[in-house]
Amino acid sequence: MAVVTCKYHPQIPARWRCESCQINYCPSCITVNGQRAPDCPICKSELTSLGSANLIKPFWTRLREFFLYPLHPAPLMVMFGLSVIAFLIAQIPGWFIQTDFLLWRVHRYDLFSLPFVFVYLKYAQSVLEDTAHGHLKPTPLSSEKLTENGMIIVKMMLLFFAFSLIQFATLDLFGQFGKHIVQIILVFATPAAIMVLAMEDKLASAINPATVGSLMLRIGAPYLLLFALIYFLIQAKNFMIGMVSGVFSPALTIAFFEFFSMYFYLIVANMMGYLLYQHHEELGFSIDVEVEVYPEKKKTKTSPVQEVSPELRAVEILIHEGKTEEAVRQLQGVIRNSPTDLEARERLLKLLRLTGDMAAFREQGQSYISYLISDNKYAQAAKVYQGCIEFDKTFKPEKAGERVELGKLFRHNGQPKLAMAILNNLHKDFPNYDNVPQAYLMVAQMLCEQFNEDARAKQVLKFVLENYPSHPMTEAVRDYLKIVEDVSNR
Ligand SMILES: [Zn+2]
Ligand SMILES: [Zn+2]
Repeated sequence: MAVVTCKYHPQIPARWRCESCQINYCPSCITVNGQRAPDCPICKSELTSLGSANLIKPFWTRLREFFLYPLHPAPLMVMFGLSVIAFLIAQIPGWFIQTDFLLWRVHRYDLFSLPFVFVYLKYAQSVLEDTAHGHLKPTPLSSEKLTENGMIIVKMMLLFFAFSLIQFATLDLFGQFGKHIVQIILVFATPAAIMVLAMEDKLASAINPATVGSLMLRIGAPYLLLFALIYFLIQAKNFMIGMVSGVFSPALTIAFFEFFSMYFYLIVANMMGYLLYQHHEELGFSIDVEVEVYPEKKKTKTSPVQEVSPELRAVEILIHEGKTEEAVRQLQGVIRNSPTDLEARERLLKLLRLTGDMAAFREQGQSYISYLISDNKYAQAAKVYQGCIEFDKTFKPEKAGERVELGKLFRHNGQPKLAMAILNNLHKDFPNYDNVPQAYLMVAQMLCEQFNEDARAKQVLKFVLENYPSHPMTEAVRDYLKIVEDVSNR
């Protein structure tokens, strides 16, 4: 199955699809609220799930990880410990003597090692379950892992026992040929039966052809692949064992045999668990770990997905689709609901500049600056103002007080031109503003000190004295006028 990728993040597998827009979205493009399927950011119709199987790396692309899994500390410790125990049991004199045990002939070694086989199978089953729940790396070892719910291994044994009974029964009913057919079917169904057992913890389900068959059908072709891989792993195990047998002492050979058997079975358990994890949605069971989008990629610095709020992500998509008006409306809505969202304000301003809607641009610029000043963010307000006049030379903040505050800041920062521009015509724009004298005194000071325009400075000062004769600032204005006159007369 080919992986469907996000339209806006072509490296990332898609999670949702809009049928009417014919667009696929990745999880970072869409926010899920609650249980309901989310809406398309463009047309608002309900999205369809592509299944999380699309997000999770297909298991045949991570064979390397499967082979490395048993080499992590926890599984390695289990395998090594049990191999040492196998070695010690094999040292017991007469360990290879056959004993009649019920109807079977068994080696005494088998009887001695049975509890350890049990512990190992229990561990392998917990690896299968952990992986199925999304823990892709071995979880730390605990005593529960090796002992708790040992019943599951009893059930597994009973399952195999039942399988051999079925084979005997078919031999009786249909002869050798029938037995072979049934044997093939049972061998093929064994991994699925173990997976069902891991999922439901019920022998009845694991032995039920309906549940086992349905699991195989839901997983589909990957199940065949799993089966083929298991076959190759068994061959590999036999090859490895063949390599060491005869080279070492019998006891050491036994230890190697156990180690390789455990190593390869753990790979199989990990693969079976992964297949359940990959198809958990179709199989209808929940996982602990949230589906990660190709976690290996996420770690790299050049992450293709930017961290933005869901609303802004939807806006990005609208812009991408050329729906700028809708994007503007949505951004305005976002700002109305949370006026503190500076990111949204920044984007709206940029977007309005692109659309060329001057009235809306001016309005947003003013509201943005007002908000920043009310929040004492003068430097940022000054920056926004500079951005605004770059685009619209006539742009002015909305309130007289804001213009004076920014004028002071520009002057303080050594940007007298900007200070002059923002204070220009203050008295015309705000005839009732009572702080014009203070602002114009500042203008006169800048004219005199920064621009060497004493004549214009005097004009401004005289204008203030004429028009605001009773203002408390008149004294200071008159004093400064006197200084300018003295300096220019010198
Ligand atoms: Zn995306
Ligand atoms: Zn749509």
